[in-house]
Amino acid sequence: MLKGKNAVITGSTSGIGLGIARALAAQGCNVMLNGLGDPEKIEATRMALTAEFGITVIFHGADMTRPDEISALMESAANEFGGVDILVNSAGIQHTAPIEEFSPDRWQAIIAINLSSSFYTIHHAVPQMRRNGWGRIINIASVHGLVASANKAAYVSAKHGLVGLTKVVALETAGSGITSNAICPGWTRTELIEPQIAARAEALGVDIEAGGRSMLAEKQPSRQFVSIEQLGQLALFLCSPGADQITGTAIPIDGGWTAQ
Ligand code: NAD
Repeated sequence: MLKGKNAVITGSTSGIGLGIARALAAQGCNVMLNGLGDPEKIEATRMALTAEFGITVIFHGADMTRPDEISALMESAANEFGGVDILVNSAGIQHTAPIEEFSPDRWQAIIAINLSSSFYTIHHAVPQMRRNGWGRIINIASVHGLVASANKAAYVSAKHGLVGLTKVVALETAGSGITSNAICPGWTRTELIEPQIAARAEALGVDIEAGGRSMLAEKQPSRQFVSIEQLGQLALFLCSPGADQITGTAIPIDGGWTAQ
């Protein structure tokens, strides 16, 4: 379906970003991976995707807190691929604390990585997409782009901001062949939420699995985690012709979390 298309996926060395990279690669799309982590593991991931799907996979280690490095990543994608057709903004971090104890450093880092980095990638990608008359911008927001939870001041602010950015870009690109949408996952079992599961388990004096079940019971009516594969399938649908008129949306995939 996506043979010959080129995608940049920020935060794709693990979790949801890597899952979406796999889903795109499986449809013949070339991918640029990005993120932090052990260089040997990242290279092994890059080689494995190349071998499994016979596509071009490149890696750029831009730090998403650094606008200059994000520009270099987008320029590198344009040079290596000849353009960017699909942009998935998935880089993200979490920090939880009550507002009066929330460290300003953590605030700055979360706003930079979870919100501002998407401004910079989109700013660079839109001119290339306009030239092609086609483009897909998929921002991995969160249920926390739609509703709040206590102790997540920076994360909820960044994700609400990302949903707003998604809408503005949709209006500015409407009718051009470019769409801009946000995916809003509920609890998805990745490294990002492991510290929260561990903290819950410790507070309740239970094991990790029971800690996870307690978190689901509190927020996610299905009591099941969203899977990385399900998020990959939703991203693929947004890249399909069936989604040509879907733009400016924030799509929950959350087991009913935001229906409450
Ligand atoms: P993850 O920790 O597995 O992935 C985060 C990715 O971002 C990794 O590749 C990491 O290396 C990268 N990253 C972090 N800081 C970076 C930086 N400074 N520069 C470049 N890359 C950086 O977690 P995940 O759950 O896959 O998170 C992906 C996105 O999904 C995030 O935006 C997160 O907010 C969002 N999300 C996750 C959940 C969940 O329950 N896991 C729910 C809703 C939304």
